[in-house]
Amino acid sequence: MRMYDIIQKKRDGGALSAEEIRAFVEGYVKGEIPDYQAAALCMAIYFRGMNVEETTELTLAIRDSGQTLDFSRINGIRADKHSTGGVGDKTSLIVMPVVATLGIKVAKMSGRGLGHTGGTVDKLESIKGFCTDLSVSEFERVVNEIGVAIVGQSADLAPADKLLYALRDVTATVDSMPLIASSIMGKKLAADDDCIVLDVKTGSGAFMKSLEDSRALAELMVNIGKRAEKKIMALITNMDIPLGSAIGNSLEVIEAIEVLKGEGPADLIEVSVALAANILFLAGKGSIEECEAQVRRVLLDGSALETFARMVKAQGGDPEWIYHPQKFPRAAYEATVCAPRDGYIARVDTEGYGVSALLLGAGRNTKEDRIDMTAGIRLLAKTGDYVRAGEPIALLYTEKQERLASASQKLLEATVIEDNAPAKTSLILDRVL
Ligand code: URA
Repeated sequence: MRMYDIIQKKRDGGALSAEEIRAFVEGYVKGEIPDYQAAALCMAIYFRGMNVEETTELTLAIRDSGQTLDFSRINGIRADKHSTGGVGDKTSLIVMPVVATLGIKVAKMSGRGLGHTGGTVDKLESIKGFCTDLSVSEFERVVNEIGVAIVGQSADLAPADKLLYALRDVTATVDSMPLIASSIMGKKLAADDDCIVLDVKTGSGAFMKSLEDSRALAELMVNIGKRAEKKIMALITNMDIPLGSAIGNSLEVIEAIEVLKGEGPADLIEVSVALAANILFLAGKGSIEECEAQVRRVLLDGSALETFARMVKAQGGDPEWIYHPQKFPRAAYEATVCAPRDGYIARVDTEGYGVSALLLGAGRNTKEDRIDMTAGIRLLAKTGDYVRAGEPIALLYTEKQERLASASQKLLEATVIEDNAPAKTSLILDRVL
């Protein structure tokens, strides 16, 4: 089977057979198919899409491209949460220690930044000493002892996704429904969790910009998960506004710590509480209201923070950084972005905010790029706020001064200020069971 023919068939709008999809995935993992052909097929899939059968086959081929995990040595109910990607989305850093504190076992494999969105693994690596590359036995030991461990995707788990994820990140082929669904569900089916809550982001900072597409993506993934007999559900959450005030790796860890201390921005708390409560609900820990109350309790009494600090220590990180976040290094350079006129922040292009953070060094432009952990944005005003001309709306941070001008310009272009206040919007837009 020639890769050329597979690319051509998809380019011309054909539906690929199971054999063709497997030949592509297996050939790419073995190194027999070069990046340029894989990128061409991803671009053809981006434009032509895939039907449900093709997407399911791609998911299964990704799952089968490596080992499937056996977590039978982890005692208790195992749960996971996965976001389709957003700007300022640091909920995994909050939700996972919260549910672990409440008796759920979390053996989480997370990703790196993708496109304009951040990744949990990159964020955690901003903590001094934190190791995201544990052996399977270490991983299981930490989960059994602390209740939670978060690592990068191991080389053996869904290696096809690891390769495709990095390729899509730099070839403008991320925001494709079949590629997102198969990437997420290929990994989830290879891991050995009992309950999965998906956070499907929707809006200007998400890969799916419309509620309709986001709902279709959520239904597709929930369907694939159910066929594989997982307890699975999705929340559709608003990504028309960045979540919280911090965008960028160490800045986001610091903000997650604030929430784990019972403080922090209200929007981030609301989405984190909803996700954690739904995990507990799926795990049979009570009604949604009861689960929410448990989540709020462990955020307020400091026990979720304690779990996070213990996880950091068990994974080689310095827990003092969690108790004293002022230990995180500060960026060498900063700049203030000011409102160009009086008015309400009517809306923002959240993807533009993510790109501004990328320009500052918080993400990658090529697969080989090194991330500046200190780089990012602290928002001082968000959608709905009234600002006066010249008033600071954001602080930008970077280790390279020359990055500040283009990042400031991108942020300003992405901010729309108008005379009238925008309508209020909800954060949790739907629940797909
Ligand atoms: N998260 C993933 O793991 N894959 C995607 O394609 C998008 C978000």
